[in-house]
Amino acid sequence: MQTKFDAIVIGAGPAGSSAAILLSRAGWNVALVEKQIFPRRKVCGECIAASNLPLLDALGISAALRANAGAELSKIAIMHRDQIIFSNLPEALDERYPLGIALGRETLDTLLLEQARLSGAQVLQPYSVKSIIGRAGDWSCTVKALESNALFILQAPVLIAANGSWETIQSDRPQRRLERKASDLFAFKANFTHATLENGLLSVLSFKGGYGGIVLGGDGLTTLACCIRRDCLESYRLAMPKLGIGTVIEAMLKRECKGVQHALNGATLKGRWLTVGPLDPGVRLRAKGEIFRIGNAAGEAHPIIGEGMSMALQSAWLLCAHLLKSDHNKVITNSQLQHDIQRLYVQDWRKQFLPRMRLATALAHIAMRPSLAKPLITIAKNCPSLMTFGARLAGKVHCAVEQDMISFYSTISDSMKKSNISSLGYMDSLESKRLYRE
Ligand SMILES: Cc1cc2nc3c(=O)[nH]c(=O)nc-3n(C[C@H](O)[C@H](O)[C@H](O)COP(=O)(O)OP(=O)(O)OC[C@H]3O[C@@H](n4cnc5c(N)ncnc54)[C@H](O)[C@@H]3O)c2cc1C
Repeated sequence: MQTKFDAIVIGAGPAGSSAAILLSRAGWNVALVEKQIFPRRKVCGECIAASNLPLLDALGISAALRANAGAELSKIAIMHRDQIIFSNLPEALDERYPLGIALGRETLDTLLLEQARLSGAQVLQPYSVKSIIGRAGDWSCTVKALESNALFILQAPVLIAANGSWETIQSDRPQRRLERKASDLFAFKANFTHATLENGLLSVLSFKGGYGGIVLGGDGLTTLACCIRRDCLESYRLAMPKLGIGTVIEAMLKRECKGVQHALNGATLKGRWLTVGPLDPGVRLRAKGEIFRIGNAAGEAHPIIGEGMSMALQSAWLLCAHLLKSDHNKVITNSQLQHDIQRLYVQDWRKQFLPRMRLATALAHIAMRPSLAKPLITIAKNCPSLMTFGARLAGKVHCAVEQDMISFYSTISDSMKKSNISSLGYMDSLESKRLYRE
């Protein structure tokens, strides 16, 4: 097995796979390590903002996305108790991709990972990174092959953490996770068939102690995702002690948001409810950090604005833009250059993503408190265009990546397609039913 690389990327979510594709296509020798077997379901609202579609197109998967996604998301609604307020979603300037889409993570993540493989990245899956030692310019990662339990040491001068929120590689999170707080947020997701939700409508839910979203994605599957405070979750469970947690959440959401009750009337749960938590929104990047971090490993916004995948995809592009601006040999041999790149990347990251993270925090706290949500709902009712404006502020149509870089990768994708290396072949080989794992 090959063990020496230019870069090791930990995690093949949207952030990690994007970085692996970008670096591999630029001639880097990349290892992409993923501990789970794909396709896999994931707790996520599954809405991909319009701002990301040019990036996904440049990575070569837009045709497969279109074939598998639901209708373009043109409208937004807020559902709170018996109220539903509608407005339009803002349109991006790129005429080809004015609006976002909803698509299962089992499809999106599998497509991206397959593109990484086609682009030349060495995909190690299911392999888990167990420990990291070293410094910029000289990293060693111990990885475990999960099917055989064999351990290997991978070495690379560049290390990119794209491991999302739920793994504790070199952070103080396990300790903080042990400190149980009433305000801890737990996230849930379920899919339904035969829901009666309007096509192209992205609905945001607001209820006591939590918030969420419901949307109709591809294959007629509706995604319902939400976050609930620990104390509220416990009181909902106590009120329905004999029921499973998914049933409790579903009953509570139907009671608190009439729009959900209406949408799920006659719907059938597909698969089981998934849960993760507690969430830990905040910035994890440090200008002096030695490991490059992208996606949720760099920072996490409250998912009320549904911008986590945007931050994952766009942070991968931002970091790679910086890595690729310098001479490849210098980046992999010169640790000072890596520190300089880190500083510039962190600056960019903060400029692009901090405003939407702050907005997400404010909206999340309002949505969870009926006394604050009620006046805001009244304002939105009188002026629905404020919701369109809010979605714009949340970053729905703003892409952080420079057009030159997008065009460069589009050209590479086009030439890959001409040489018949295409993700569509892969999609054809996957029966869509098999993509959905219960
Ligand atoms: C309730 C909820 C709703 C959401 N709704 C939306 C939405 O509608 N739109 C949106 O854009 N975002 C949404 N998000 C946010 C979005 O899901 C995340 O921001 C996004 O998945 C982050 O991508 P990532 O690539 O950084 O990490 P992930 O997608 O979490 O991927 C990380 C990968 O790393 C792997 N990994 C972890 N540790 C290791 C290890 N040690 N070794 C090997 N592999 C490892 C994991 O298996 C995983 O596959 C939502 C989140 C929640 C909780």
